[in-house]
Amino acid sequence: MIPTASAPRPARESPVLLAGFCFILLPMRQTQLFTKTRKFAPSDEVAKNAQLLVRAGYIHKEMAGVYSYLPLGLRVLNNIVQIIREEMNVIGGQELVMTALQDKELWSRTDRWDDDKVDNWFKTSFKSGGETGLAITHEEPLTRIMTEHISSYRDLPVAAYQFQNKFRNELRAKSGIMRGKEFLMKDLYSFSKDDAEHKAFYDKAREAYVKVFKRLGIGEQTYVTFASGGIFSEFSEEFQTVSDAGEDTIYIDEEKRIAVNKESCTDEALATLSLEKGKLIEKKAIEVGNIFNLGTRFSESLGLFYTDETGAKKPVIMGSYGIGPTRVMGTIVEVLADEKGLVWPESVAPFAMHLVSLGKNGDEISKTADALYDDLVKAGVKVLYDDREVRAGEKFAESDLLGIPKRIVVGKDAVASNEFEVVNRATGEAVKIPRAQLLGS
Ligand code: ATP
Ligand code: MG
Repeated sequence: MIPTASAPRPARESPVLLAGFCFILLPMRQTQLFTKTRKFAPSDEVAKNAQLLVRAGYIHKEMAGVYSYLPLGLRVLNNIVQIIREEMNVIGGQELVMTALQDKELWSRTDRWDDDKVDNWFKTSFKSGGETGLAITHEEPLTRIMTEHISSYRDLPVAAYQFQNKFRNELRAKSGIMRGKEFLMKDLYSFSKDDAEHKAFYDKAREAYVKVFKRLGIGEQTYVTFASGGIFSEFSEEFQTVSDAGEDTIYIDEEKRIAVNKESCTDEALATLSLEKGKLIEKKAIEVGNIFNLGTRFSESLGLFYTDETGAKKPVIMGSYGIGPTRVMGTIVEVLADEKGLVWPESVAPFAMHLVSLGKNGDEISKTADALYDDLVKAGVKVLYDDREVRAGEKFAESDLLGIPKRIVVGKDAVASNEFEVVNRATGEAVKIPRAQLLGS
């Protein structure tokens, strides 16, 4: 991964992680790719994101609300995850991974185990006796972990996060990968000694979220949206991406670039936020992330205390910060795809370029395309090479469906002129670029 200005390369990188990055960067010949595209979406799939992603071979639908990520889909998901990871590291987040299986006793202590308190648990039992559940969220386990590591004000603040599959028995499953029963979540939790320290981290996290959605290519459409914090705090903030496919309704102030969600849009809330009802525009939106002040709800019930400078024992102030990378992937599709298929922003695309050869095995065109592929690979370009012998029209339609940002076409003209047509997937704009420039850029 190329480090960006806002995300300095970590001082130490494990060989395992480096191997992972190399995998992500691998170029590929399409004759080697096991996934195939299809002309039609499964008839039971109503969401545009899932229809296109299934047709393009990025995901596989196991059951309603349950999806597998195939090679192309995994590359996109990994790119999304990596952008989030970099920005969480910048604000001091430390990555860990917690368990999917949950301890009933722990969740009983915060009164979040019983089905009449939290109704979307998947529960099962151990052969040896006793119940367990699949993780819906991770406040409880992380708070308990922190009781073994935080004891003094000197240990604070701390922020820890993970990418982990969550399991929720969701009733609605009409939004494709945007509402999974099994889905990936980035959840970060902050631990602070007082309100000021909490607020300082919370504000940094909000800024990091703004950067994340910008880098993911949906910054324009995404609004910081005020929401009531339910049991936890007066306000929480959601990151809502405007789309007709959204399940939420928000009211936007375009000038201030903030919004209020429908449930929280009371006269009192508007006054607090100095927003004028008449100026707000109603839109459907997708909640791609949220940030909460948890206060001392979990630290008090699970015994996470620290001693302050005077020796007094106090509960730790907590915050939680979620993003759903799989929901983000679906959202990008909903917002950017067109009638021809997927359109990926460069930052998350599975490949930077789609090299499409119009040649037949062994002819001049395919030799030119092969040589260009080898040189692009050497130049470090993430390229998918369509080296199959398929009709040109079919190749272009498939290439449009796959949504790779740039397409290089190798036909008869290219062999003669050593110039290649490069088509921008998002704009449709086509330019002729000489070979040397293609490799140098
Ligand atoms: P929603 O109101 O849409 O159900 P939530 O309030 O339950 O979301 P959180 O529990 O705060 O969401 O989860 C954090 C993030 O995880 C959300 O902002 C969203 O991006 C993602 N997320 C939540 N539920 C799902 C789901 N069923 N499928 C995919 N992503 C999800
Ligand atoms: Mg929910």
